[in-house]
Amino acid sequence: MKFGGTSMAGIERIRGVADRVRAEVAAGHEVAVVVSAMAGETDRLVGFCREASPLADRAEYDVVVASGEQVTAGLLAIALQAGGTRARSWLGWQLAVATTDAHASARIEDITTDAMLADLAAGRVAVVPGFQGVGPDGRVTTLGRGGSDTSAVALAAALRADRCDIYTDVDGVYTTDPRIVPRARKLARITYEEMLELASVGAKVLQTRSVELAMKEKVRVQVLSSFTAIGNDPTPGTLVVDEDEIVEQELIAGVAYNRNEAKLTVAGVPDKPGVVAAIFAALAAANVNVDMIVQNIAYVAGTTDVTFTVPRTELALSEDVLAKAQGTIGFEHVTSDAAVAKISVVGVGMRSHAGVAVTMFKALGDRGINIQAITTSEIKISVLIAEEYTELAVRVLHTAYGLDAAA
Ligand code: ADP
Ligand code: ASP
Ligand code: MG
Repeated sequence: MKFGGTSMAGIERIRGVADRVRAEVAAGHEVAVVVSAMAGETDRLVGFCREASPLADRAEYDVVVASGEQVTAGLLAIALQAGGTRARSWLGWQLAVATTDAHASARIEDITTDAMLADLAAGRVAVVPGFQGVGPDGRVTTLGRGGSDTSAVALAAALRADRCDIYTDVDGVYTTDPRIVPRARKLARITYEEMLELASVGAKVLQTRSVELAMKEKVRVQVLSSFTAIGNDPTPGTLVVDEDEIVEQELIAGVAYNRNEAKLTVAGVPDKPGVVAAIFAALAAANVNVDMIVQNIAYVAGTTDVTFTVPRTELALSEDVLAKAQGTIGFEHVTSDAAVAKISVVGVGMRSHAGVAVTMFKALGDRGINIQAITTSEIKISVLIAEEYTELAVRVLHTAYGLDAAA
């Protein structure tokens, strides 16, 4: 069982979580619980680090931000014990959750479970702080924002758990963010692939890496609400499953948006081999992660334009890198726009159906929403639009693909 920040926000809610855990124990299960920090706590801790120094040492940043989960893990163990359930916490270094040394975005390499398995068999609930691990040098690491989902899936895989139940503040995965589209529909099932694409293009209900890992390790993941009545829930959450476990496959599984990118256009780029490589090599050397890329055909003889997106937090860095490289690469100028949003539609059905892209472009065009860039994968189409149209675009596409719930 994994409980997110909203579920852990305050002692009253932690008692509610303890009740849910107790119900699983009463049903005869051995239970390991992964917890997030209280809602807002990680943001607060990140804020302290930035205030102390905008260039805070990442290893020390991890020392600070990992603390939120330590607090909730201890509190849940206390709440379980107070209700008569035997429980103990297992911190990242105690288990241990061994990770790479990439502080602030570490990857889990191995989880040692022998001691925990023995303790679970002896009837004690295990409470594990999500998001944290221990690096090769013995120092605390964190897994990147939203990383407790990945902690939970990794632990479920290591323990060979029957299920990994992710409890959050919505009762499942919806056709789009239910906070933006009230008529979004809850999906009873979604394929790993679709969930992976949706997460990677902005649906933050599950961290992308948790889905990747679940798919690879064949972990049965279920997304549920921690705010419904315990026990006979008439509307259980969403199961993430293999494609062959879905009987009636819909064309589109969902729509997602991402406002964390910025657009850069490099104009007057010499239209000859090796120049685009030089632009992106300079960005790669600065560790800038480029997403959408569009290169126009040469409309003025000999030169072309290249447009691409980068994380908004890396816009200033990217402009700086390009300015420094201008002399050697020889383009004319760079323009940028941070007020953009990427809207994506995802569905395995588009592999075998024509007209999916047209529906998207037409629905946006009819509303006067201009498309600035397009990228596709086998099961996804993404477009870049002006940020002010984000919510309208999501709603319009949701309707265009017939995803709206009956009124
Ligand atoms: P937690 O703290 O439990 O990890 P998150 O805030 O990380 O919770 O994720 C849950 C949120 O994800 C929901 O409140 C919802 O606004 C958002 N969300 C975005 N897209 C979707 C979607 N397709 N289905 C469900 N929730 C979504
Ligand atoms: N508390 C961490 C965060 O907010 C990890 C998580 O909740 O998944 O990113
Ligand atoms: Mg989350």
